[in-house]
Amino acid sequence: MLPWYHNGLHFQCTGCGDCCTGAPGYVWINKAEIEAMAAHLKMDAAKFERKYVRLVGIRKSLIELANGDCVFFDNQNRGCKIYPVRPRQCRTWPFWDSNLKSPESWEETAAHCPGCNQGPLIPREEIELFRQSRRV
Ligand code: SF4
Ligand code: SF4
Repeated sequence: MLPWYHNGLHFQCTGCGDCCTGAPGYVWINKAEIEAMAAHLKMDAAKFERKYVRLVGIRKSLIELANGDCVFFDNQNRGCKIYPVRPRQCRTWPFWDSNLKSPESWEETAAHCPGCNQGPLIPREEIELFRQSRRV
């Protein structure tokens, strides 16, 4: 059966920064992502972890600042300081399973992410690639 978004969905990030700031949350990261971010910043992975990573149970997340901003959010330029190596969780937004469950879930996501329903049409095949890459 075809998913409800079989005709694709429109999305273009407006750069508002809302998904990197505000309410507390987690940016889950794995070893490969830590190594990539550390290399991007020309840092040793262990030092990167000490500075930017927190343990939540057995999982690892980027730390956030007291105001809820991700530690890598550049408030002045409203952008990600490590954009080319941002974690998979960030790269695959907003095409997460939870946001694609139903048209209602998508509209709820759109209420918080102004890039949804804007810009070019992202075909279903591309959306599925985002979803698969998030599950790896
Ligand atoms: S909330 Fe949406 S539009 Fe705003 S920065 Fe995040 S992805 Fe882009
Ligand atoms: S890593 Fe970059 S894209 Fe991801 S939440 Fe932090 S600032 Fe936003």
